[in-house]
Amino acid sequence: MKTLTILGATGSIGRQALDVIAAYHPEIRIGFLTTNTNVELLAQQVERFRPYGVAICSEEAYCQFRRSSSFQGPVLCGSEGILAAAAWAENDIVLAAMVGFAGVEPTLAAIERGATIALANKETLVVAGELITERARERGSPILAVDSEHSAILQCIVGENIESVERVILTASGGPFRGLSPHELACVTPEQALQHPTWSMGAKITIDSATLMNKGFEVIEAHWLFGLAAEQIAVLVHPQSIVHSLVEFRDGSVKAQLGVPDMRLPIHYALTYPQRQPTELPRISWQSLSRLDFEQPDVARFPCLRLAYEALVAGGAATAVLNAADEIAVAAYLQRQIAFTTIPHVIEQTLDAIAPSEATSLEALIEYDRLARHTASQIVSQHVQRT
Ligand code: NAD
Ligand code: MG
Repeated sequence: MKTLTILGATGSIGRQALDVIAAYHPEIRIGFLTTNTNVELLAQQVERFRPYGVAICSEEAYCQFRRSSSFQGPVLCGSEGILAAAAWAENDIVLAAMVGFAGVEPTLAAIERGATIALANKETLVVAGELITERARERGSPILAVDSEHSAILQCIVGENIESVERVILTASGGPFRGLSPHELACVTPEQALQHPTWSMGAKITIDSATLMNKGFEVIEAHWLFGLAAEQIAVLVHPQSIVHSLVEFRDGSVKAQLGVPDMRLPIHYALTYPQRQPTELPRISWQSLSRLDFEQPDVARFPCLRLAYEALVAGGAATAVLNAADEIAVAAYLQRQIAFTTIPHVIEQTLDAIAPSEATSLEALIEYDRLARHTASQIVSQHVQRT
């Protein structure tokens, strides 16, 4: 029996993880399930999965759950409640599936307890990659990638020496706007941006996929997970999303991991690593797969990818600023305050306004996050006044 806590159980990754556990992992006992506000779904998950406890970030949602549920286990409230669920001493595995900066502290708390981290919440490595990987090494807490590209790389390097890797190539679907001109891009609505061609995901990552910031975050994630330099991490657009990433070795050989675009497979692999256990998940239909296309990403139309590489190379707190500015810009776009093409401007202007310095302590990163959010919000207001 292993105990698994899911941070962000009601999200896209959290729900798919529970499906995978119900179908293939009778050996897993559920510790805590956590949510921000979605207590209706949490109540259904409690009925079905009988967790040890739950944690609800929003106080209002917590009160609603208390009023309507007869759940007998611990019900924790607020960000302290989420932290306590992450740090619960009985957790063997913590699935980090919250979204954005909010996941940083709970993930660190789980690492401090030495739990295995199944990491979906890539923003934690964008914000605090050095701190998280250093503490994980010190605490002996393995970090297993759930993100499909990094799961693909992990699957390609099992049994290999990381020194023999020349570079990795992360594949990107290119998002829904791959073929649009700059003028067309300026007019795309949140509804259009939320229609991802190959993956069904939460709102924030779907917008990040459309701007290619998601791929930029994944470059930073690969840097921290596999210890690769920025120039060893390339990106190719691959619209079919069948090849999840490639690893080129120093002898000229290339390995890739392929599969249908379905997050249940990388979630399952993180739970069975380094073994493989059978599933009935969908198989690739080779007959209907007539071609696999690859092309260079267009960083002129999608500058977020360039901004992410630049922040990685700048180092220090630059990637924490990148993340905070992106969270603010994406929220403003979803609220129709700014155009799709203004998202990278807000991020670039925020990065220009804040000089990055060494920042490895959690307190310093929290301070940079706060400062960058404030600056990005002011820049958003200036753009709103201009339109
Ligand atoms: P989502 O928006 O569907 O779900 C987010 C979850 O986190 C929800 O349970 C929500 O209640 C919880 N949450 C959000 N803000 C919170 C807060 N402030 N405090 C406490 N809980 C909070 O997101 P998702 O698509 O499941 O993505 C989760 C993470 O996984 C993201 O970092 C994303 O980049 C990454 N990821 C997702 C996919 C995917 O297919 N969805 C693929 C790869 C990586
Ligand atoms: Mg991914």
